[in-house]
Amino acid sequence: MANSSTSLRIKKRLVIGNWKMYIEKPEEARALSLLLRRKLRGMFGVDVWIAPPTPFVAAVATLLESSAIHVGVQKVTHHTDPQHTGSVSANMVKAVGASFAIVGHSEYRAAAGTNDKVHAQLEQALAAGLTPVLCVGEESRSRDGEYFSFVEEQINSALHNVPKNLLKKLVVAYEPVWAIGKSAGDAMKPADLREMVIFIRKVLVESVGREAALKVPVLYGGSVEGGNAASLIQEGGVSGFLVGRASARAESFFEILEAVRQRSQ
Ligand code: PEP
Repeated sequence: MANSSTSLRIKKRLVIGNWKMYIEKPEEARALSLLLRRKLRGMFGVDVWIAPPTPFVAAVATLLESSAIHVGVQKVTHHTDPQHTGSVSANMVKAVGASFAIVGHSEYRAAAGTNDKVHAQLEQALAAGLTPVLCVGEESRSRDGEYFSFVEEQINSALHNVPKNLLKKLVVAYEPVWAIGKSAGDAMKPADLREMVIFIRKVLVESVGREAALKVPVLYGGSVEGGNAASLIQEGGVSGFLVGRASARAESFFEILEAVRQRSQ
């Protein structure tokens, strides 16, 4: 099945497109996948992963089979027993070609996704052989800097008791909730991002050890567009981006990829 057996070794930069619910028709998913496949052939220095809506994952994974683009899901269930109507497990999506899973996205957390459930999802993803993309980020910022301990707790609770050797596959996406789903002007300032990325790396070092921590890509998500991608990647200290809205439109996604590619030389 598409890409599922390929290990997700990440090059210099990683950009993940989270299509959310922006793409609602199979033909749109197909057209965007084929365009990505064609345009990204020969684009070096940036790894591109995409997370279509779950009903399209199998078809998109097949279309992108043998391309360099990896396909994943926006969410997997934390449940382990099968008596859960409507839930989608990590094993199911792995079986149809997914190679990663977004875990703990703020839109999931807002709908009762507690730290405990996020931890369980991360374990399920790892057990199925998926790379977890762990989303963390504060809802708002206060002057006392309390958001640092909020993010620290999200990371530590998600990684609690997870064997270190499995965390080779981890990706962390820092997504401040207040910056998500807006426009470039509302995105985080690169200097503030840099400060948070350094903090996240410190938390990871304390949690999984220096060697493993330094290999974990730390992405930023929140209103990334072609116009702010360059400064965020250059000054923000991130390994790449998790992109929502702009990833569902080919033109804006390519602008972001090009900005990242130019800074990965
Ligand atoms: C997201 O939801 O993961 C995200 C980053 O959204 P947007 O790019 O639309 O802010």
